[in-house]
Amino acid sequence: MIILVINCGSSSIKYQLLDMKNDEVYDLMAKGLVEKIGLPDGCLTHKPTGKDPFSMTLPIPDHKVGMKLVLDALVDPEHGVLSSFDDIEAVGHRIVQGADFFSGSTLVDEDVLAKIRICCDFAPLHNPAHLLGIEAMSHVLPEVPQVVTFDTAFHQTMEPYAYMYALPYEYYEKYRVRRYGAHGTSHQYVSQRGAKLAGLDLGNSKIITCHLGNGSSVTAIKDGKVVDTSMGFTPLEGMIMGTRCGNIDANILPYIMKKENLTPDEMTTIMNKKSGFLGLSGRSSDMRDLDAAAREGDVRSKIALKKLTYDTIKNVGAYIAEMNGVDLIVFTAGIGENNPRLRRHLAFMGVKIDVEVNERARSSETIISAPDSAVKVALIPTNEELVIARDTMHIISELDN
Ligand code: AMP
Repeated sequence: MIILVINCGSSSIKYQLLDMKNDEVYDLMAKGLVEKIGLPDGCLTHKPTGKDPFSMTLPIPDHKVGMKLVLDALVDPEHGVLSSFDDIEAVGHRIVQGADFFSGSTLVDEDVLAKIRICCDFAPLHNPAHLLGIEAMSHVLPEVPQVVTFDTAFHQTMEPYAYMYALPYEYYEKYRVRRYGAHGTSHQYVSQRGAKLAGLDLGNSKIITCHLGNGSSVTAIKDGKVVDTSMGFTPLEGMIMGTRCGNIDANILPYIMKKENLTPDEMTTIMNKKSGFLGLSGRSSDMRDLDAAAREGDVRSKIALKKLTYDTIKNVGAYIAEMNGVDLIVFTAGIGENNPRLRRHLAFMGVKIDVEVNERARSSETIISAPDSAVKVALIPTNEELVIARDTMHIISELDN
């Protein structure tokens, strides 16, 4: 089944075209990225498997035009991988926020769209863009069924004591204020792959997954179900990130807002876009830049880097206590997959890292714990697109039956 997986941002469209034979066997036919939608120098980068990559710069006024460019690239006689649009059997979309409406992927219909629209309040940067993507796809491929996969769905198994904030209950009832988590598709994928790699029975396991990238979160998964995760109502809660502050004392907000005469929107931007690595170091949101600055002796970059390690260990320690043990700790995403220094710091409660294997391990499935470690530690490159394609395939196959 040929499935187009779409991840729409406010000014971008990431895509992958996968030919799914079954859950495990698939071909990546092409992938690519449309960037700078709405700007005069919009750009399409298309990478067809087995052919030369192709890119073009042109004004891309909106997502509909962007989506049409993607489809045209897929059937292009020179760079394409399909003979016709009709070969695409389904489209799967990544959706950041599904709140407590969705505990799994689902076929798009009017009711689903209405609920995604309600969730725009909790993910104002992401959900409106996802809706634009679904709408654009309905416009260019009206006959093709669309499925949505939610970053929040995997976390829906949390108990109320884990997802409730100790605020007046009416805010939960009136405004759905609770913890939803994020990166769920990634945590789900790497926990399942990690269990396989480590020879664990997922249904009888304690796993902690560390998704460390530009956004970072740690999740505790018992018997295949999430019991806790570090992100909350929005992907701001939890650890230090590229530009997000993570946990801070909530009283800091009114304090700074009064001192600096800031509006709620301005304060939101500061916490989401100007904090984290960037805010603390004053240099960059990218860990590679901070690593380079720290090597040159920059004290603030060193603090920012140390804080990510510290926040990771703090969450892992808390989740070991919550689950009363752990069998496997998994690292994934840009930093988790590429930064051996951070992973090396995990050395407590019987966790022993194989220093040499860890040093070499980069973006490929690897057990990095020592053979005599009481807890297995693994590096698993994440693959959210594959989860979306699998879910889409299952939902569409059921429709056909
Ligand atoms: P992500 O959001 O998963 O793309 O991760 C982005 C973060 O991963 C940035 O802070 C990068 O510095 C870091 N990162 C990505 N690739 C590498 C690499 N090859 N080596 C070290 N850090 C990397």
